[in-house]
Amino acid sequence: MSDFTIAIHGGAGTILRSDMTADLEREYTDALEQALMAGYSLLEKGISSVDAVKAAVTSLEDCILFNAGRGSVFAADGSQEMDASIMDGGTLMAGAVSAVKNIKNPVELAYAVMAKSRHVMLNGQGAYEFALSQGIKTEKDDYFFSKFRYDQWKQLQGTDETALDHNVAAGDKKFGTVGAVALDKHGNIAAATSTGGMTNKKWGRIGDSPIIGAGTYANNKTCAISCTGHGEPFIRAVTAYDVSCLMEYKGHSLQEAVHIVVHDKLLKIDGEGGMIGVDAQGNVAMIFNSEGMYRGMKCSDGRNEVLIYK
Ligand code: ASP
Repeated sequence: MSDFTIAIHGGAGTILRSDMTADLEREYTDALEQALMAGYSLLEKGISSVDAVKAAVTSLEDCILFNAGRGSVFAADGSQEMDASIMDGGTLMAGAVSAVKNIKNPVELAYAVMAKSRHVMLNGQGAYEFALSQGIKTEKDDYFFSKFRYDQWKQLQGTDETALDHNVAAGDKKFGTVGAVALDKHGNIAAATSTGGMTNKKWGRIGDSPIIGAGTYANNKTCAISCTGHGEPFIRAVTAYDVSCLMEYKGHSLQEAVHIVVHDKLLKIDGEGGMIGVDAQGNVAMIFNSEGMYRGMKCSDGRNEVLIYK
């Protein structure tokens, strides 16, 4: 257990060592370490868990390897629409944005919704206008372009199929959403999640990531959770909040509650993926039912790891 701690994920899915090159593995590991440090260095200075998860997620959004911010997947119309959310476990305040375009860091915008508006969730063009009013950084389409994701979309373009992140090319499933959870020196926990969603998504499809209680939840009494995986089952299972409920109403530990949700409840409805969580005592859970999950934690008691595979 720690005085302060941060855990992050960069998506779960069929992530196999056999599909990975040493160079790519290093790139992922470096990006995860950098994101952990971005959050941890703030916690060390006594800055809040909300700021720490925002900093870690911003770092992952800026990395083209992950399906969030820069590097987001392409929707059916060839655009990149992003979803993000953040929640403060101390105040139960939350902010979220869905289907936003050209926002450099959707998590910053979700934070602005929480801190500067009277609302919890803003969508699309309205969210964009709010972003401009708050001086949130925007970027042109080129900034978000990655050849890798574009080629994935080209394989599905014109079909009715949608796919979760990398699974188009590899014929398997990987979910590149990013997220962070943290406990700060003041005993407050927070969670944030950010994603480009699903390749070739249409009709304004929105996943679990920006939905408070599904992809993200934080409450000092129980846990802070950020999820990644096939969004639809995660929404139906109200996944992140369910972990909190198991802790609050049934007295389960963080580890037990996350295990029940990921390995039992989600699997029963074909919900592939995983989640990270912390509680106010500094316990950390990083559990998934897929082949792998990009993940890491850095804690004041010295626990420090970045992992990819099972
Ligand atoms: N959960 C995300 C969604 O369904 C995808 C992911 O985790 O990569 O939009």
